[in-house]
Amino acid sequence: MSELPEIKLIFDEPKQRVKPPKHFADLDPTERTALALELGIPAFRAKQAGVHFFTHYNDDPESWSDIPKELRSVMAEKFTPKLITLVRSVTADGGRTRKDLWKLHDGVLVESVLMRYSDRTTVCISSQAGCGMNCPFCATGQGGLTRNLTAGEITAQVVAAARACDQGELPGGPTRLSNVVFMGMGEPMANYNAVMRTIRNITAPQPDGLGIGARSVTLSTVGLVSGIEKLISEDIPVTLAISLHTPDDELRDSLVPINSRWKVREVLEAADKYSDKTGRRYSIEYAMIKDINDQAWRSDLLGRLLKNRNAHVNLIPLNPTPGSKWTASRPEDEAEFVRILESYGVPVTVRDTRGREIDGACGQLAAAEVTSEA
Ligand code: SAH
Repeated sequence: MSELPEIKLIFDEPKQRVKPPKHFADLDPTERTALALELGIPAFRAKQAGVHFFTHYNDDPESWSDIPKELRSVMAEKFTPKLITLVRSVTADGGRTRKDLWKLHDGVLVESVLMRYSDRTTVCISSQAGCGMNCPFCATGQGGLTRNLTAGEITAQVVAAARACDQGELPGGPTRLSNVVFMGMGEPMANYNAVMRTIRNITAPQPDGLGIGARSVTLSTVGLVSGIEKLISEDIPVTLAISLHTPDDELRDSLVPINSRWKVREVLEAADKYSDKTGRRYSIEYAMIKDINDQAWRSDLLGRLLKNRNAHVNLIPLNPTPGSKWTASRPEDEAEFVRILESYGVPVTVRDTRGREIDGACGQLAAAEVTSEA
């Protein structure tokens, strides 16, 4: 296996190799029109490209019959170059959960997970290849950050999921992709601009974007307060999820190492400000790790911290990473944890373990592929 990048907390990505091709999803609608004009293509063709890409989920200009043949190849190269190639898919839950492994133009691997429920269909996407946050229980964290994804590469995962839904690839027939969660590989706040461009691509009405409501988009973060503050200044009320994992700084310094920069109190205050601005309840993500963060006193402390906040707790049974000594909490400890939180009036849900057998959303498919290629 090639040498792993040095693990450290990084905000700037390491030296980039060959940059991914520019895609029109990297641009805002005005810039897309400007790009068309620069290429000597009439402005309205940029809108037509949007209809194909964001309304019909079609990224192959050779099949765009309303575009003159002589323009198709230049549009294929400059508007919608292929950014992600499917390596393989694995399914679970009778096909209702599907995890796709994608290869980027430079061979880097990322994954996304599509989950169909009775009332919604959600895609969980990656915003970075690897992650620099180094949380010890997370598979992605173990390999460090390889690089940031571009808005085009992140958007392409969402469009691929929308296409799979539209074409009825999941059992139950054609459906509409309804939710997007930034809970795959990477720390979205550490790739802020590309993630924001993607959020606009997801939420802008068709044909400038996919027309999915901001409330149906969840941004999950370790708690980069500078990023949360920037998000407050945008006018997009996405759902914010904070990966807290413990209410005390002492343990959080090791479970979520960025805590050495922004403490629990600062992260919660930033989330409160976000909630004041948007009126949205935020989520507290809490991986339940046996005998590490699942004690009754921690639930009590968490309950006291959250009782007057507009927050909801999402407990995630730990999905153990290969070689880790940590495992999920005992059912009785989990039940007691829930009971104590509820006694403070804090809303709690225990996340269903969709796709557990395919290592859903924890970077393990990409990790397994790297190992088997070594
Ligand atoms: N970097 C972002 C998004 C990453 S993953 C963040 O940390 O929020 C989405 C969620 O899955 C996070 O709450 C993360 O802490 C959690 N997670 C990571 N590894 C896990 C594991 N092995 N078991 C359970 N949850 C895990």
